[in-house]
Amino acid sequence: MRAIISVYDKSGIVEFAKFLKEKGVEIISTGSTYTLLKENGINAKSVENYTGFEEILDGRVKTLQYKIHAGILADLSKPKHQEELLAHNIEPIDIVVVNLYPFEQVALRSNNEEELIENIDIGGPTLIRAASKNYKRVLVVVDPKDYSKVMENFDNIDLEFRKKCALKAFALTSYYDSVIVEKFGYRGDVLNVGLKLKKFLRYGENPHQTANFFRLPLKKGLPNMVQLQGKEISFNNILDIDIAYRMMIESNFLNKTCMCAIIKHNTPCGAACADSAQEAYEKALFGDPVSAFGGIVGINDTVDGNLAKKISERFYEVVVAFDFKQEALSILSKKKNLILVKVDKIDLNSYKNNKDIKSVIGGFVVQDIDYMSEFSYETVTKAQSTDKQIEDLKFAWFVAKFAKSNAICFALNSQTLAIGAGQTSRVDAIKCAAQKAKDLGIGLAGSVLASDGFFPFRDNIDVAKSYGAVAFIQPGGSIRDEEVIKACNEYNLPMVFTKKRHFRH
Ligand code: 5GP
Repeated sequence: MRAIISVYDKSGIVEFAKFLKEKGVEIISTGSTYTLLKENGINAKSVENYTGFEEILDGRVKTLQYKIHAGILADLSKPKHQEELLAHNIEPIDIVVVNLYPFEQVALRSNNEEELIENIDIGGPTLIRAASKNYKRVLVVVDPKDYSKVMENFDNIDLEFRKKCALKAFALTSYYDSVIVEKFGYRGDVLNVGLKLKKFLRYGENPHQTANFFRLPLKKGLPNMVQLQGKEISFNNILDIDIAYRMMIESNFLNKTCMCAIIKHNTPCGAACADSAQEAYEKALFGDPVSAFGGIVGINDTVDGNLAKKISERFYEVVVAFDFKQEALSILSKKKNLILVKVDKIDLNSYKNNKDIKSVIGGFVVQDIDYMSEFSYETVTKAQSTDKQIEDLKFAWFVAKFAKSNAICFALNSQTLAIGAGQTSRVDAIKCAAQKAKDLGIGLAGSVLASDGFFPFRDNIDVAKSYGAVAFIQPGGSIRDEEVIKACNEYNLPMVFTKKRHFRH
């Protein structure tokens, strides 16, 4: 048997090559891999020696040779292939051990085009793809973690195993190319969605659905989260953590010291801003402590001991923050199941490069993410909002953006009083929010109201006014805007239009 070994990541290769040698496998190897094997007393043949051609063009051409690729690609079940090998004096190659130039690692730290280009591996993927195509005869090993498996099963490697190795190799080259495409920013008629498995999940949205967690090439974000304690993160947890995380990043928009949001079923049930994380949390909880049970708490700050004590008084699934003080960790460690997640602060520039992907049967639709970076509005009523109302309107608008459509948010003093979300009619979203507030004994008098989409009829104003709302923010753009503005003017209440809609389905 004959193996070609050409690896950039040399971990475990000496031990593996020694094993192959003991099994009587002849080894052919490239440049520095060859040197390393030699240094470790492993008798290998250099590619130059094997093919009669030296490595040229600074290593760009090492294994791209007739003798090597015919040796890999020959289908020995075909007499013609056998004859041709003989005629050209080419020996079959049975094992290909290759891992690639680290394009991804380089792409993460460098924008130097020359350096990037030199790190595009050509010979490696070619070896891998040739071996994978001929997997019935040739074993391809692309991951140092697989060396031990190969050594254990060397004497009875079956077809199933070979095929798995080949598919793993094709997946690797496919991902590798997608990283190149992502780095150089191609926008063409083929969508680049290279995906790397981050984690197998226990199950999906429901226990009978299987699920995985993938990460996109070169992106910073949720796959980088660090779990500090608690039970295994579920599919639903990830989706809820994501909304908390988005609110934490976009809360920059509010220009406040701390923002806390409590998420339930992928929609905020309470949010608030304050000068300390603890105060923001207590204010966020105020509006709907019933829904907060079993929810996810997100804080755009460090969780300290005081906040940890407050959080530990109630039942939550997850706490997401930019950091946790040691004292907070020891307090929360008593809650064994509580998941603590630390996420990176990412700047708006890398954040806004993200895409939202939604699946449909047989495909998916992709859009830019809907992010808030600046606040612009126009007063459309005779009455003008006070500066304080504008601040509350901005806050309510921020929360309504993240709540599921149709979404309504009553707020006061940078605190949600009631949120109506996921309703199929806007006026019902208002009623639903008001009913919740009533049940909890929360008064809405003097509050402001935000709506993620336009008010289609004046009844929204009539109903909201009857519950105590005194200022409104909405996108505007309905054919009945005039009717809605007239209603506000009748009540002498201010309303502003943002001319931007923030549906979230
Ligand atoms: P070595 O460290 O042994 O000098 O080189 C190993 C690396 O070279 C591996 O990552 C392998 O994928 C890559 N490689 C193998 N053959 C070729 C080739 O013909 N051209 C280029 N550019 N890279 C190759």
